[in-house]
Amino acid sequence: MNAIAPARPAAEIGCTDAPVLYERGQREVFCGLTGIVWLHRKIQDAFFLVVGSRTCAHLLQSAAGVMIFAEPRFATAIIEERDLAGLADANAELDRVVTRLIERRPDIRLLFLVGSCPSEVIKLDLHRAAQRLSETFAPKVRILSWSGSGIETTFTQGEDACLSALVPDMPAEAADAPPSLLVVGALAEVVEDQFLRLFAELGIDRVRFFPPRRSDDLPPVGPRTKLLLAQPFLAETARLLEKRGAARLPAPFPLGVEGTTGWIGAAAEAFGIDDARFDAVVAPRAERARAALARQREKLDGKSLFFFPDSQLEVPLARFAARELGMRLVEVGTPYLHRGHLAAELALLPAGTALSEGQDVEKQLDRARAARPDLTVCGLGLANPLEAEGLATKWSIELLFTPVHGFEQAADLAELFARPLVRRSRLKV
Ligand code: SF4
Repeated sequence: MNAIAPARPAAEIGCTDAPVLYERGQREVFCGLTGIVWLHRKIQDAFFLVVGSRTCAHLLQSAAGVMIFAEPRFATAIIEERDLAGLADANAELDRVVTRLIERRPDIRLLFLVGSCPSEVIKLDLHRAAQRLSETFAPKVRILSWSGSGIETTFTQGEDACLSALVPDMPAEAADAPPSLLVVGALAEVVEDQFLRLFAELGIDRVRFFPPRRSDDLPPVGPRTKLLLAQPFLAETARLLEKRGAARLPAPFPLGVEGTTGWIGAAAEAFGIDDARFDAVVAPRAERARAALARQREKLDGKSLFFFPDSQLEVPLARFAARELGMRLVEVGTPYLHRGHLAAELALLPAGTALSEGQDVEKQLDRARAARPDLTVCGLGLANPLEAEGLATKWSIELLFTPVHGFEQAADLAELFARPLVRRSRLKV
């Protein structure tokens, strides 16, 4: 039931068993600290204290430049170079910084100590520091730790590390609790509200989102929890939730009309919603979204597209661009390709799509230069040099900062692809 009607004949689709080019060379990818920029907006009573270097502070300041107008909910405790003998001092210094912060900011209910890559930070055991400080400040403030280090994480993996740190604190669902739906992955509030309305119209009422907006509102989890991933980069979080009994619903990701229909369809099927009700709720929204997309499709149909690995959103985005916008995929690079979580996506990609995992940046740049795609989706570090060489680019970070999930945002997502091309054609005029 609720099957997704393929946009192309079956023989032309499917990359389930397609070969993948694995590259393990130099990479140009943001580190996991970047996730703080959207996570601090999402969990509204949390504070993120990066234990790091001046580089980390600069990254956060530039990635989150606009936030200087708001009361900031992140900061960097700069740990200067020190030898092992100085570690006791570093721990005492960290305790001092945390104590001062909590005294100054009584609104903080959850404090994350976020690790980074300098060797002085790696020597510090932040997990133990978090436990020690939690004992001091409980029950008013909980203190957890995770790593956003560029050695261990890329870009969106920071969210995975943050959510993984929260999973052990989630309450167990009641023994007699009816089945519930847990949507996992930070989504814009407007998108959460749209999905809540849609699920309610379908008759699925027990829906929770993770991460929650308030840190003391962690959703319960257990064997009757059906887990629906909203983001494709949450491998460890999903593993931990499944370990606590939650059952993951295989689905494409809710990007574009087709992905959203399949994603909602997976939930509808798990909750026994009949086809007639599904169609009555979903079809009008899908129809409106398709109509809104049509204008962008005119600009993008037949254009070639190259993805450099950055956000792990690349495979779902490529599926959307190829099947709903008519774009031609030159290469779809991703930092990490999770075949399990991406199974439904890979099955929908056009057959023969060139897939790559990891990066050897110079070799990949050579491939992009040879192909001269109409549009390249890449990180900030690569965008300027490629633009200087005459290639149109889209920053992958924008796809994280802009609400792009769900029916109502499908046309906005398409517009993100169309905008660089429109700008170029205007400049030429
Ligand atoms: Fe750079 Fe590492 Fe700090 Fe990220 S965590 S900004 S990669 S030093």
